[in-house]
Amino acid sequence: MLYGIIADIHSNLEAFEVVLQQLRQVDQIVCAGDMVGYGPDPNQCIKLMREKGIRSIAGNHDKAAVGEMNLEWFNENARRAVEWTSEQLTGDSAQYLKLLPLTLEMDDFQIVHGSLRNPLEEYIFTLAEAAATMELMSKPLCFVGHTHRPARFEYQGKAIINPGGAGQPRDGDPRASFGIYDSEKKEFILHRVEYNIERVQEKMRQADLPQSLIDRLQYGR
Ligand code: ZN
Repeated sequence: MLYGIIADIHSNLEAFEVVLQQLRQVDQIVCAGDMVGYGPDPNQCIKLMREKGIRSIAGNHDKAAVGEMNLEWFNENARRAVEWTSEQLTGDSAQYLKLLPLTLEMDDFQIVHGSLRNPLEEYIFTLAEAAATMELMSKPLCFVGHTHRPARFEYQGKAIINPGGAGQPRDGDPRASFGIYDSEKKEFILHRVEYNIERVQEKMRQADLPQSLIDRLQYGR
């Protein structure tokens, strides 16, 4: 089975559409959370998630946008974007976000946003952090998001893979990041694709979203 693996779309419809275009041939797409927050098109991204039957878990921004997470944990710009997102959400979108689970177990892997020991908050940047989640894994493979940086950790037959940020990459490469996992070959391939960053930035300006969030898209930081 071929899976499209995405994470951290962050209301970036232009990036999301281009990534979906690249994933036309896969059997199932799964998302490791943070569909909304930062970007200008939360409802449109949620609509597309539902239309495409993408399986997703909740990220911290998804839960914050529906009042299920304390905003003190966010920095000022992220908080402003969360508040703006909350005001935009339709009842349907909000309901969809509220119903997202924190983890998902597929036939071949698990998915969580941050880590299995703290799904909404912990970042997995190091092997030590990865090892703590590996201890809790019921499958040999787990996909995560949250850091917006592609990463892969392997230890004692278990692997944790981050496909990077589709809608707000932070590894210095501004192209949308995502992956394709082939469960028969047990092979994950990372992909990057260009999208119309200027168009997203223009929408963000019109929505009066924080300038630093607009700027970072073009640097991938
Ligand atoms: Zn995120």
